[in-house]
Amino acid sequence: MSQICQRRDTCRLCRSKDLTLVFELEPTPPANAFVKKDQLDKPQTIFPLNVYFCENCFHVQLLDVVDPRELFENYVYVSGTSPLFVNHFQEYSRFIMQNYLRHDPSFVVDIGSNDGTLLEFFKASGCRVLGIDPAKEIADAATKRGIKTLPVFFNDEVSKTIRTNYGNANVITANNVFAHMDDLTGFIVSVCDLLASDGIFVFEVSYLADVIEKTLFDMTYHEHLAYHSVLPLISFFRDNGMELVEIMRVGTHGGSLRGIVQLKGGPYKVGRSVENAVRMEKEMNLDKAVTFQGFATRIDELKKKFQALVISLKSEGKSIAAYGAPAKATTLTYHFGIGREIIDFIVDDSPLKQGLYSPGKHIPILATEAIYQKKPNYLIILAWNFAESIMKKHAKYGNEIGHFIIPLPKLMVI
Ligand SMILES: [Zn+2]
Repeated sequence: MSQICQRRDTCRLCRSKDLTLVFELEPTPPANAFVKKDQLDKPQTIFPLNVYFCENCFHVQLLDVVDPRELFENYVYVSGTSPLFVNHFQEYSRFIMQNYLRHDPSFVVDIGSNDGTLLEFFKASGCRVLGIDPAKEIADAATKRGIKTLPVFFNDEVSKTIRTNYGNANVITANNVFAHMDDLTGFIVSVCDLLASDGIFVFEVSYLADVIEKTLFDMTYHEHLAYHSVLPLISFFRDNGMELVEIMRVGTHGGSLRGIVQLKGGPYKVGRSVENAVRMEKEMNLDKAVTFQGFATRIDELKKKFQALVISLKSEGKSIAAYGAPAKATTLTYHFGIGREIIDFIVDDSPLKQGLYSPGKHIPILATEAIYQKKPNYLIILAWNFAESIMKKHAKYGNEIGHFIIPLPKLMVI
């Protein structure tokens, strides 16, 4: 095993060793490790991608941990670039300001703040704000735009420095980062230290219930170490001196969970939303390993159907390209066996990705116009959760040039 990938043998939330392997995916390189042309001759390391279930607290997780410096320091994702996210963060900030701000001005810290989109809304309403994001380029750009952002990983030391220099935080937010950390206990202890006694910690993470319901298996990649559900989180927060007081389901990333957490003995009552979520998760059997083993079987059946289709298209001499190069496309291309022998190129709307090559498979990523210039017979929508809007936007391709292949949640050719 490489030094940049380490294997833990205990549950990330409760430290139990009673862990069951439930889903073995094809090993991949880091999902966002896009490659420049001059690096194509350098082989990319691939890492195991196996999903485990904790029999003690029911937490679903990866145990093979790739060094975060390998994953995040050159991150190309910028939240402000997507209007959907800007709207989401505006709603998010309003929700917190209306329900949980008890001080004026409040001090809001966002961990994993990316380009500062969320904090901008808080700042505009008079809050003091501070961002934390280890992607240096993005952090520096946010600071230049007026959202002071520390280019570091959040830890005990950073928590203490912030407390000394700025005081305790009234609100700490962490969106799509709570699933990304190996040492969640260390993280949450540092959050506790920084939080004011009547403050709240708010997190958003992809929700395991949505992963299962919507077949989002390709959300599994090395950046996502934890696949959260409410049941294990209740005991996790309790064991660390905190209390989960409210849960909401929100639409981001195919379905996410927003949790509101306070220090034990804080000012808020535990809402009905928490017990409702627990009841639903038990009804879905999210507390049983067999649920996830069954999910893996379902994915493997989809994979077989998909492979049979593309192999028959290739044998008929058809040309195939793909649409969208999100991180999850790395998992999908590896697990479903989509390489250069199947597809000629991928198109992506993001100029940051155009001109690069896909992680590991080294499929060229071109601007979207390429589908009209090269006219592939089939277009596999790798960003399949946006299939409807992609097909609408490119109705001309569907009407005049070729067919769309949607691989999930059910294989379709349109
Ligand atoms: Zn556990």
